[in-house]
Amino acid sequence: MTFQAQNVNTEELVALDNVHHFHPFTNHAAMVKEGGARVITHADKAWLWDSNNRKILDAMAGLWCVNIGYGRKSLADAAHRQMLDLPYYNTFFKTTTIPAVQLAEKVASLLPERFNKVFFVNSGSEANDTIVRLVRHYWELKGQPERKVIIARHNAYHGSTMASASLGGMQHMHAQGGLPLPGIVHVQQPYWFAEGGDMSPEDFGLKAAQAVEDKIKEMGADKVAAVIGEPIQGAGGVIIPPATYWPEVQRICKEYGVLLIADEVICGFGRTGKLFGFESLGMEPDIVPMAKGLSSGYAPIGAVAIADHIMEVIDAADSEFAHGFTYSGHPMACAVALENIRILEDEKLVERVADLAPYFAEKLGSLSDHPVVGEARSFGLLGAIEIVKNKQTRERFAEEGRAGGICRDACLANDLIMRACRDTMVLSPPFVITREEIDLLVERARIALDAVYDALKGEMV
Ligand SMILES: *Cc1c(COP(=O)(O)O)cnc(C)c1O
Repeated sequence: MTFQAQNVNTEELVALDNVHHFHPFTNHAAMVKEGGARVITHADKAWLWDSNNRKILDAMAGLWCVNIGYGRKSLADAAHRQMLDLPYYNTFFKTTTIPAVQLAEKVASLLPERFNKVFFVNSGSEANDTIVRLVRHYWELKGQPERKVIIARHNAYHGSTMASASLGGMQHMHAQGGLPLPGIVHVQQPYWFAEGGDMSPEDFGLKAAQAVEDKIKEMGADKVAAVIGEPIQGAGGVIIPPATYWPEVQRICKEYGVLLIADEVICGFGRTGKLFGFESLGMEPDIVPMAKGLSSGYAPIGAVAIADHIMEVIDAADSEFAHGFTYSGHPMACAVALENIRILEDEKLVERVADLAPYFAEKLGSLSDHPVVGEARSFGLLGAIEIVKNKQTRERFAEEGRAGGICRDACLANDLIMRACRDTMVLSPPFVITREEIDLLVERARIALDAVYDALKGEMV
């Protein structure tokens, strides 16, 4: 495969990167000490190449986003055409652009009938920031301004800005910047493997749902604005809730008149085998933030879909929602997202995920006989492997994240990208991955798990 940037001087690039580029979610000093970053130069379908010409199987689809796979010329063409016609115009002050209109209509058409309005942003974080302001604004207009509390879950991920990191349940993120913001509270996550103890997954799902109701009562039912959750938690470690969980949380939200928000940034646009994760998991959300899958990562764009009953209150109040971004509905990003959705539909890629899911589950499941694997689970094309010291008791190795780090490094040494969330290995391959590539992925994962076993077997008594 050829690419545009030839004659890459890796050494020089890495040296400059070390000096000038402050990477997100990175211990910078440690990265520099280890020799610096890997330079990715080009990609095709499920494969990446680095500047040393190593060919790497990307089992994460970038950061859970490149669902249609790399190397799609038609998305580059769509961006090119749009930038020549109109590279930018805003959507403030009663103006609009052709791709923004078309994408809003398209996204609404993919959602259940009650969704007809779409607000554009540039990322998942911005989508979730928008929601915090939107739901509080909504309850004020509805004459219940005291409804401000938003309930989220521990170990959730909703982004990295002040509001979205507050919604997230990552303590190490809250510790930096004085988070969470007031009025954002967290409850137990539906993580059976780590927190279910002796309970059956079904009973544990109901218990975790009960935590939502308990929190509503604790805060006061008339103070709670919304509950937010990822249908399946992604960055928390691909946490697939027991089937009892979301229908029960849904019932509780209805009972107390609390809005339900399904964060579809990862699950949306097909990853669970249906267009949206809420369809797979039994939620009926009122508001739907989305991002990653909307453009398959080819352009930065996010959106918030808003149900009619919320828009009716906003419209009736005849007031301005004082919120938006310079690049809300950016024409190039909208054109790229439209072409991404056209490909999803024309190539039936959501159906493909549903078709591949049992195969992926079976192959991934074959790793559960490994001595350090406590569970290998999947849903659609999301997967997780739990690394444990004791398969029966689900006890972890000492020093959280150490075993996961060994596994991740061993994967990379073997040209596989599989991410570690603490000691849970996570997978989110592109929808275009083939059965042969899934076989290879599992083969390489097993080699990496062997490396964990070799390094830590002395601790397994
Ligand atoms: C990645 C992610 C976000 C944040 O999206 P950014 O585009 O990184 O701001 C929000 N929610 C979920 C579920 C995510 O996985």
